[in-house]
Amino acid sequence: MWSARKVDDEYIVSIEDKTSIVDALTDFVTKKEITAGEISGLGAVNKAILRYFDPATKQYVDKTFSEQMEISNLVGNISVSEGEPLLHLHITLGRSDYSAIAGHLMDANVRGACELFVRPLNTVAKKIFKPEIGLKFYDF
Ligand code: FE
Repeated sequence: MWSARKVDDEYIVSIEDKTSIVDALTDFVTKKEITAGEISGLGAVNKAILRYFDPATKQYVDKTFSEQMEISNLVGNISVSEGEPLLHLHITLGRSDYSAIAGHLMDANVRGACELFVRPLNTVAKKIFKPEIGLKFYDF
């Protein structure tokens, strides 16, 4: 599903072809017991589910894109919510016509490579849900 090499305090992570990015990253942060940190990366996918949040209505709008796309940027953070690892991931995807789509990443299927850097931080970054806004926030 994934392979990784630790270099100093960071990991180089490779997610396998035909693998869910969110499943692989969730498995990685769980096994490495990472409770705070930063993720960045690139790669390619053939399917992605993106989410758009409307604060006015607190509604999530999810949309699936089933086509081969480049991950021109994947950025995210790692925290803990209700005792479980929480990944907050955003992605920019390049289409075959070189246009881009972007949004909150719900999941995506690797088709080709997916190369990430994961930078753990030596703390527990807890998040709690604020119903008045409809999102999870850091609880500092
Ligand atoms: Fe988001």
